[in-house]
Amino acid sequence: MTTTQSRLEAIYDLVLHRNAGETEFHQAVREVLDSLGPVIARHPEYADARVIERICEPERQIIFRVPWVDDNGRIEIHRGFRVEFNSALGPYKGGLRFHPSVYLGIVKFLGFEQIFKNALTGLPIGGGKGGSDFDPKGRSDGEVMRFCQSYMTELYRHIGEYTDVPAGDIGVGGREIGYLFGQYKRITNRYESGVLTGKGIGWGGSVVRKEATGYGTVFFVDEMLRQRGEGLDGKRLVVSGSGNVAIYAIEKVEQLGGVVVACSDSSGYVVDEAGIDLELLKQVKEVERGRMSDYVARRPGARLVTDGSIWDVPCEVALPCATQNELSASDALALVKNGCTVVAEGANMPCTPDATNVFSDAGVLFAPGKAANAGGVATSALEMQQNASRDSWTHDHTEARLDEIMRGIHDRCASAAEEYDQPGNYVLGANISGFKLVADAMLAHGV
Ligand code: GLU
Repeated sequence: MTTTQSRLEAIYDLVLHRNAGETEFHQAVREVLDSLGPVIARHPEYADARVIERICEPERQIIFRVPWVDDNGRIEIHRGFRVEFNSALGPYKGGLRFHPSVYLGIVKFLGFEQIFKNALTGLPIGGGKGGSDFDPKGRSDGEVMRFCQSYMTELYRHIGEYTDVPAGDIGVGGREIGYLFGQYKRITNRYESGVLTGKGIGWGGSVVRKEATGYGTVFFVDEMLRQRGEGLDGKRLVVSGSGNVAIYAIEKVEQLGGVVVACSDSSGYVVDEAGIDLELLKQVKEVERGRMSDYVARRPGARLVTDGSIWDVPCEVALPCATQNELSASDALALVKNGCTVVAEGANMPCTPDATNVFSDAGVLFAPGKAANAGGVATSALEMQQNASRDSWTHDHTEARLDEIMRGIHDRCASAAEEYDQPGNYVLGANISGFKLVADAMLAHGV
């Protein structure tokens, strides 16, 4: 083992030791460390300043009690988190996830990814993430409101437009951001628009923010295909999930002439050979907060599959847009066998490390989430810009900025991969260029 490798292994061992049981965080760290050997070999100054060790340790981790009263008058207690991971490039920035699977290890994996993702956008935002083990699914609006108010009653003292700017993630959309913002405003007596992003259009939000993660992922795929002299027109795709990211990825694919033949939720997946009916999907998921069975019931020709894997459906391009580790090595093998040549992660870390290896061995073009799904947080930064200048941009201008930012991320990843002699390796390119942007700022700021 070279000195560089043993240095990286020692860092990984320390991460395992300090963060016992946090397997998703270990996985995210491992993936980045695996790319950094050549950078450390060329730039000993990063190792001398112990930049990697510093990046792996969050600047601040906040865990708090969230007590609230449900519709039956019963007191419920959840756990809230905010991990302020790295502020080298700007205020901590990253979403809040409300889901029963949330614990410190999930928040840390997401916060860690967010550092590099945010750096790749080229915009001045640091990395952070938060959330709770509260599940908004099946709760009334009143319950969600009271939960959000209690959550913000603690969180407000840690955030601010120059400090830490949360947004949405799984389980946190426009409704939750509204209740959170209302409580922040009530407690602080400040109309501080830039404290949260993903706000409603009428009260400080940005157009295209809702669509941005899904649109951005498709812009990234379009740019990858363009390098091969191809486009999305006529391509057959599978998109997992049916939340905010999946819905707007499907919308943009359809606008660019591709056909999405399957999408999913936790109850199963739908195969719709005619192409997903987007209006119906939005009605079921965004308006009624319903299930895939509600879609199938109103869509002749579509079928619901409740066992097996959505990745068994043949496609040329696969966009995992549901959640972490949803696509295993056997799913990856099935995709490759059925002719899939492009995969882009709309969700955060949806492919397991073994699945990623299958794709790279098979020569599949693979875009990691920290590059491909950065459009959401990039547009959050555009929302912050609009808030700071008390302005609101047009749809066309905002979407054009998003497109430009995604193509910039693509080029940053592609040129770092080339510089390190692995052209086309977007994983390596994303990790190296994201890392260098953060590391250089940390060096400049001293210890
Ligand atoms: N939760 C999104 C992400 O994973 C967006 C974060 C934000 O807009 O701050 O990047």
